[in-house]
Amino acid sequence: MNSRFNALDLLSSRDKIQNKPLDTMVSEIFACNVFTLPTMQQYLAPKLYKAFVQDSNSGESLTRDLADHVAEAMRKWALQNNVTHYAHWFQPLTGRTAEKHDSFFTLNGNGEAIEEFTGNELVQQEPDGSSFPGGGLRSTFEARGYTAWDPTSPAFILDVNNQKTLCIPTIFVTYGGHSLDYKLPLLKSQAFLEKSAIDVCQLFDNNITKITVTLGWEQEYFLIDEALFNVRPDLMMTGRTLLGRLAPKGQQLDDHYFGSIPERVYAYMTDLEMECYKLGIPIRTRHNEVAPSQYEFAPIYEDVNIAVDHNQLLMDIMERVAIRHKLRVLFHEKPYAGVNGSGKHNNWSVATNTGKNLLSPGKDPAKNLQFLTFFVNTIYAVYKYADILRASVTSASNDHRLGANEAPPAIISVFIGEALTKILNEIEKGIEVTADGVKQALNLLSKIPNLQLDNTDRNRTSPFAFTGNKFEIRMVGSTMNCAAPMTIMNMIVGKQLKEFYQDVQILMANKTPKDQAVLTVLKHYIAESKSIRFEGDGYSQEWAEEAKLRGLGNYADTPRALDAYSNPTFKNLFIESGILSEDELHAHYDVRLEEYALKIQIESRTLAEMCMNQVLPAAINYQNILIENVLALKELNLGENSYEAPLQIIEEISQHIKTIRDCAYSMKNARENANKLDSKDRAFAYCDLIVPMMEELRAAADHLEPLVDDEMWPLVKYREMLFIR
Ligand code: ADP
Ligand code: MG
Repeated sequence: MNSRFNALDLLSSRDKIQNKPLDTMVSEIFACNVFTLPTMQQYLAPKLYKAFVQDSNSGESLTRDLADHVAEAMRKWALQNNVTHYAHWFQPLTGRTAEKHDSFFTLNGNGEAIEEFTGNELVQQEPDGSSFPGGGLRSTFEARGYTAWDPTSPAFILDVNNQKTLCIPTIFVTYGGHSLDYKLPLLKSQAFLEKSAIDVCQLFDNNITKITVTLGWEQEYFLIDEALFNVRPDLMMTGRTLLGRLAPKGQQLDDHYFGSIPERVYAYMTDLEMECYKLGIPIRTRHNEVAPSQYEFAPIYEDVNIAVDHNQLLMDIMERVAIRHKLRVLFHEKPYAGVNGSGKHNNWSVATNTGKNLLSPGKDPAKNLQFLTFFVNTIYAVYKYADILRASVTSASNDHRLGANEAPPAIISVFIGEALTKILNEIEKGIEVTADGVKQALNLLSKIPNLQLDNTDRNRTSPFAFTGNKFEIRMVGSTMNCAAPMTIMNMIVGKQLKEFYQDVQILMANKTPKDQAVLTVLKHYIAESKSIRFEGDGYSQEWAEEAKLRGLGNYADTPRALDAYSNPTFKNLFIESGILSEDELHAHYDVRLEEYALKIQIESRTLAEMCMNQVLPAAINYQNILIENVLALKELNLGENSYEAPLQIIEEISQHIKTIRDCAYSMKNARENANKLDSKDRAFAYCDLIVPMMEELRAAADHLEPLVDDEMWPLVKYREMLFIR
């Protein structure tokens, strides 16, 4: 029996996994494995606790003495929870998390075993970062990357099979202080946005002295049984199916979306949620997604830094819990051709210390100038810096979604809904900048809140949509670290608010009353940024054509999208905002190009191997049977008609075999040539030469699939992967 049927047998004989009935309330266990502020308070002297809260709120660095006390508090808490090791937990540019574990156990001067954890160990560690992507910032022989504690994200206990580790969220930098991760740029971007946002807030409300960026992500994913996963080398190596013919039924009937969750998946989800609650990840929503075997988790939104950590942690836990359930999670943006891919919508907003969401229009007209300011500035920022936002979400795997006739398109446009479109048009054209005009504009806005829920969020084809009180960034891929697009959002909106503030100051210096000055500038921005606003069908060909006329960028693949990193305007923005230095920017660019080429290289090798080692032998074996059949029929002397059909199939199979063989060899040559190029040319070669070859190879294999006897086909088929639960 071939491995496919073994796997199917294994799957159908699985015992049901029964979850223990829930015997605690979520509120009783929530964050029990997190060193939250209230927990810290129990383990620290009041004076020290107060100092810690003050320093981390103000962004001051903590003294070594205070760090020692915090480390001691963490150690006590951890040991009481049977934790044996600690780890600096960080987010290198590979897009997932990394950790290096050390034991609390050590020997003291007398050779006696003790458990120790000092401020030094809390604050800094050298994880020997030589094998994380560094884009030339750190040559391997130096190997001096180090991790540094981020006190704004709480430490937590990771419990893997009762082996407990205290994980300390950290940033990862070179010895020279260059960023090598997603977290340092994110933290810097937040500070940058905060500075200009507070200046702008102060125009409206003196009580606003602190702002936080809020992020609520929506994680989409596919599940597949472990046995099926294990017999698909492509899923194991690349996270997606590199070949496989569409099943007759895909998602046409829309019968999966919000349908009842299959029992086995339900058990997985509830198990996972319990793990999340203990770690303080506020998972709130779970449901089926559009494609068969596709699902989604979403939390309550949080401060962006914590939300990013929680998403990274969630992905890790999702994989671990899946293994307990004999399942595998597919995070890839496009695991299966022909059905929907997965994204990770990022809901982005800005909140104030006064408890206000700056992107929430209110009923009180007087407050709405502030809303309008943040709303219009965000749109204007996206208009001016669309290309760099596009670059932030590009990757080999997300290329299958963006621009590939799938949600959402690669062209960045902003959807705001009919009601707000009307208001912006009215402000632009119909309202004079007088005291009365200001009142008129604000009255218009105060009618918004009730309309909001019905009017927005209906357009699923927009990559960037206003959904009532936040912007939903839909281009983000399901495998990505949210920090990448969040950093860009904070940077471009921060820069835009800074300019807005200056523009308003200039008018006010000329005796224009504040509200009129604000409206004048906003009117100008609304008119300028009009071309980025689009309310129609983002998937249509007409939109692609219209967007071109409007001068909007349309970068369908990663090497082209990444070009934004070498655009001087964007470069200056990174440098001026202090978020990435020129060296860092170059390194990040290089890492992304490298990653792209490597991903395609792995796919190309895996595909060729599967075609040569699995598809061809099956095709040839079946062809041999047909040949015997033809020979036997000929001997019967029933005439040509009797063996014409098998003969034709033999010929068809021969053609596809030839295509596969030729393609696999020329692809190998193309890879060898590409690998001699520098990183940019290499990425382009993989994109423009090797990707089309892979498509040709796949087409030949997918043609063979329905020709060859099902009993002899070695690879688990789409219908089996998508529909068996
Ligand atoms: P919808 O389903 O219409 O997209 P939800 O209210 O379910 O809207 O929100 C989706 C995600 O947006 C959730 O993760 C939610 O926490 C998040 N979200 C809601 N309000 C905000 C906000 N002010 N800032 C950031 N994220 C938010
Ligand atoms: Mg949503």
